[in-house]
Parts: sequence; structure tokens; C-alpha cells
Amino acid sequence: MASVVYPTTNLAATEQLNLVRGDGIYVFDDKGNRYIEGMAGLWCTALGYSNSELTQAIATQLDTLPFAHSFGGKTHPALMELAHRLSAMVPVEDAYIFFGNSGSDANDSHFKMLRYYFNAIGKPEKRKIITRERGYHGVTVAAGSLTSLPVNLAHFDAPVEDLNILRTDAPHYYTGRKGNETEAQFVDRILQNLEEMILAEDPDTIAAMIVEPITGASGVIVPPEGYYEKLQALLRKHDILVWADEVICGFGRTGNDFGCTTMGIKPDLMSFAKQLSSAYFPISAAVIPGWMYEAMIEPSNQVGVFGHGFTYSGHPAACAAALKTLEIFERDKVFEHAADVGDYFQALLRETFEDHPLVGEVRGKGLIAALELVSNKTTGASFAKGAAGAAAQKACEENGVILRAVGGNALAFCPPLIITRAEVDDMIARVKTAVDHAYDTLK
Ligand code: PLP
Repeated sequence: MASVVYPTTNLAATEQLNLVRGDGIYVFDDKGNRYIEGMAGLWCTALGYSNSELTQAIATQLDTLPFAHSFGGKTHPALMELAHRLSAMVPVEDAYIFFGNSGSDANDSHFKMLRYYFNAIGKPEKRKIITRERGYHGVTVAAGSLTSLPVNLAHFDAPVEDLNILRTDAPHYYTGRKGNETEAQFVDRILQNLEEMILAEDPDTIAAMIVEPITGASGVIVPPEGYYEKLQALLRKHDILVWADEVICGFGRTGNDFGCTTMGIKPDLMSFAKQLSSAYFPISAAVIPGWMYEAMIEPSNQVGVFGHGFTYSGHPAACAAALKTLEIFERDKVFEHAADVGDYFQALLRETFEDHPLVGEVRGKGLIAALELVSNKTTGASFAKGAAGAAAQKACEENGVILRAVGGNALAFCPPLIITRAEVDDMIARVKTAVDHAYDTLK
């Protein structure tokens, strides 16, 4: 056993799978077994595992300028070009971008920039952030406190109390509905809860609300029709900014460029990582609107610097990886491909699993989806301790597909965006065999 504190792993049962190579949508373990990477790693390897254009772009950058920082106004061509390109792509007015290395640090950077901004405009009391139950926003101190998943909070004394975080309902009708309430009634009820909390806290003390357009780690929750429209109207009414965490949804995953496009969200702030570089090099982007940037100039001038930055902010190899990724996305029409195969995938998934006795709900959009595994299809009753999720994940692996049980008993899918219809057929056939097997063992 290697002396590694493995992340998000049961430390009593480490080293389950040793991967040695990848090719297209496949990865191979040290025993020569091949798996479809049905999760694109951790929702991230958009272009699959053997894209030599990407590795070449990174190698060329490393040969030319392996490191440059961007403190004190220093810059380099790949950084400027990437900022230019990304800023032109995102649905944020006159976008400015703070680069980092992970989704967590993008969210921590936003957390700090929001305080910086509201201090700058003379509203220091506007500092609370609303997050949702079942949200996942990373694991650093601020992002980890915005996360609501029990496993990420337990034993860490999280959320950190002084961070002024407010929590509201998860927009999941299937698990959150009361009695025979309709979807529309469910939406109205949870948004009424939210408004009551906003009024009780005082809207002048609330800076922003963070949302994953479609959640990932909590089980791929797709909010009901009408939810975001009403949510945004409510937030605008109370002058609360909309902060979209696009770390999973960004760049083609949901059938459009961004999750915000798919779900009809008009964000003020956006967080990106993962697919921005197809995960070939760590990079994140915290996007803010021009009016926020303008307000941050004066305080930085007073102090002499905007005192936030990482050694690897705008790392040249990371910028080169992201630039090449965005170029391939555009040139090869990867988002259009993902939308087309995504429609096919969603239809086949529903056809295959909607009537399955172990499956309570099939949900998703584009190339992200989940099966909610239930012990009673009529009542939607769940299995304790994620037993069905764990059994199905294991059976999938035995059938040559890597999927991930998340949020208890949801079996999540998030394959590379380059997956073909034939590969989708193969993946779903294998998962069907695995879910049948899990059902037999759980009966
Ligand atoms: N935000 C979302 C929506 C995520 O899914 C994740 C990671 O899965 C993060 C933030 C954190 O990203 P990272 O693991 O790169 O810190």
C-alpha cells in the first residue's frame, strides 16, 4: 500500500483500482482489463484519454516557457489569449477572469472577491452566501462550507461558522416532494421557504446565491421546469447575485455550451474547472462581470495590489491545455456532437431503465445522467447507507464500465463528450446487465 492519504476514499479500504493507461473513452488497469470511463474520470475528461493534439500543445508550451506567474502585472501570450477567448464565450457582461487550479479554489476566489467588491462599494454588511442542500462546491475552507454533502462536512467541524452561509432546499422533486404535491407546487413551496429565509436574514446582508445548474456529486439533480425562472426573479427582487458553479456543467456537458444556457440561468458570476482543459492540466476560472472588476480597482490601488493569487494562477501549460481544448471544442463541433449523442443517450437510458424494478427515477440532460436506485418503486423508498449504489457501481466495474454511486443510491453517468452512439449502446447494455445483477443480489 502506498503512503497516500487518498482523497474522498474510505481510508480503511484504499487502492481498489490501479489504472495505467487510457485511449478514447477507455481506461485500462494494471491487469489489462479495459473499462468504459462512464464518468469521464471525475466529470472532466471531455475529449477522452488519448488526445495527442492536447498533449502536444502542453509539451510545446513546456518547451517554450514552462512557468510564468501573473503577479504584479506579469503576463504571457497563452494567458492573455485564453482570457480573451473565454471572456468572449461566457454569458457574463464584459467578463473578467481570475485563474486558479481547481473548482474549489475558483469558488473560494469568488467568495473572497464578493467580499472585496461589497466592501469596495460601501456595503460591507452584504456578505452572506446562500447555498442549497445537496450542493457540492468543493472542499477547501469556503467552498467546503458551501458544500452540503454530509460526507464532506462530517468530522471536519464544517461548515465553518463565521463564513455566514445560509442553506436552502435542494430542488429535487422526486426525493423532496410532500404527499401528492405537483412539481409546480413543490417549486412554489421551496421558493417560499427561501424567500422567508431571505426576509428573516435581511436581504441587505446577502451577497449571492450559488447554484450548480444541474448538480453532479449529489446525484445529478435536474430542477423542475420553472424553478430557475422563479428563483432568479426572487433573487433579483432582493438584489442578490446569481453565482453559477459550472465546474461540471460547463463546456457542452448538458447539451449546450453552459449549464446556464440549458437551464435558462442568467448568471452574474461563473466558476469553471474540469472540462476547461479536458482535465489534461489543472486549471480553473472564476468569472466576474466588468462592473464588479471596475469597483475592485480602487481598493487594490489603495493597498498597492489586489492581494489574492496563486503561484500557478494562469500557469502557461494549463493555459495552453485550455486554449487547445476550446479550439477543439469549436473546430470539431464537440458541443453539437454531445447534444446529439446526449439526446440519444437520454432516450435509451429511459427506455432501458424506466420500468426496471430497482430504478425509481431516470434523470439528466445531455451527457450527464443518473439512475435513482430504490428499494420500493412505488414509494421511492431508499436503501440504507447507499447499499444499492455501491452494489451497482461494483457490478458495473465487473462489466467493464466505470460509473459512480453518488448522493446515496444514485448511479451517475458522465462519459467523455466524444462518446459515439455505438459506444453509448455498449455502455448501456453493460450497465443493464450490472443493474440486473445488483437487483438480484439486493432482493
Ligand atoms: N464545484 C462542482 C460543481 C464540482 O462538481 C466540483 C468537483 O467535483 C468542484 C466544484 C470542486 O472542484 P475541484 O475538485 O477541482 O476542487
